[in-house]
Amino acid sequence: MKEYYLGLDLGGTKILTGLADKNGKILARSRKDTEAKYGEEKIIANMVESIEDVLAKTELKAEDIKCLGIGSPGPLDAKKGIIIENSNLPWKNVAIVDRIEKEVGIKTLLKNDANAAALGEKWFGAGRKVKNLVYITISTGVGGGAIINQELFTGVNDNACEIGHTVIDPDGPLCGCGNHGCLEAFASGTAIGRMAQEATAEGKSKKMLDLADNIIEDVDAVICAQAAYQGDQIAKDIFAIAGFYLGIGLANLINIFNTEMIILGGGVMKASDLFLDKALELMRENALAGPLEIVEIREAELGSDIGLMGAIAVAMEDRLIKNG
Ligand SMILES: [Zn+2]
Repeated sequence: MKEYYLGLDLGGTKILTGLADKNGKILARSRKDTEAKYGEEKIIANMVESIEDVLAKTELKAEDIKCLGIGSPGPLDAKKGIIIENSNLPWKNVAIVDRIEKEVGIKTLLKNDANAAALGEKWFGAGRKVKNLVYITISTGVGGGAIINQELFTGVNDNACEIGHTVIDPDGPLCGCGNHGCLEAFASGTAIGRMAQEATAEGKSKKMLDLADNIIEDVDAVICAQAAYQGDQIAKDIFAIAGFYLGIGLANLINIFNTEMIILGGGVMKASDLFLDKALELMRENALAGPLEIVEIREAELGSDIGLMGAIAVAMEDRLIKNG
């Protein structure tokens, strides 16, 4: 019997779909615009087209595909296959698994993108050799996923490992979730951008203002990183703040999960040399000696393929665990 798998990485701007063999090797890919502004039906139609596209490229049929994994930003209900809400896509309570299964006739599984990425790194990336790890993504937000004894730890209703919304400082800045001082409010790309804008508005960094062509609203984490690399002390300090709180977050994860590995991924890690040393310093200061001794901190290996490989790992999880 043929055994192939599909992964679909659903993003706010693009849909990436890949078809893999039973070893997780990608045989064909498709990239389509999400076209989120045209609404729910258009997004689903684009997902279906993207799936049909990779099938056509490989001359395989729906019945040759064992499972399709979808990685999507949350919040979502993975067990019911429903995307509850999504800040980048104009929909609410979409029963995406039912819809896709009906449209393409392939068994479909759904996971939030950070959980999918954790599975991707576990099976195809930096975590291949360990059984327990925590994956953290530092990008627009801060998300995570924990793999315990080879399996994704989902929590009772899929809300485990919301690392970004652990409170690090109750007197800290307001977070998107409504609380104050979450890790995400200090260490995400959004938080770095916010701190950079505040500093620029206060006239503290001419460099960042120059890089943004004098438009304060355009100052973001990327500009902050550029300024830091060009020696701007304020920009460097902002990354040090992000690193400081990330380090406390890492110490908490080490004390709670006691895993062999923590993997750091996400777009902000491209500037890791601006904050990682600080984070590791705070991590060592705050973690307990026992779990600290055995944990290894690694950067994610899958790079820009992490969303797609994560979705493929979602589809293949049962097989991967069985063959361990
Ligand atoms: Zn929060």
